Amino acid sequence: MIKLNKNEAKERIEDFFKDIKDKSPEAVRKMKKIAMHYNIKLGEKRKKFCKKCYSVNLKVKSVKNKVKTVKCSNCGSLMRWKIK
Ligand SMILES: [Zn+2]
Repeated sequence: MIKLNKNEAKERIEDFFKDIKDKSPEAVRKMKKIAMHYNIKLGEKRKKFCKKCYSVNLKVKSVKNKVKTVKCSNCGSLMRWKIK
């Protein structure tokens, strides 16, 4: 584990999620680990990757009753998010 202070870790995570399109699942997993290690809440950023395989290859399937259904193109798992 790279030693960072909490602010540095936060910056790193912010940077990473600014442009997540071409990130590998492995890289996403590492970032999540860092966030957990430093007790940083990912909040909305959690919605940018698959909770199962950490792929960023997500597709919006439908938006219904203020619930957005997103499908992971990699492993096929579905995630649902409430839209405010
Ligand atoms: Zn997946």
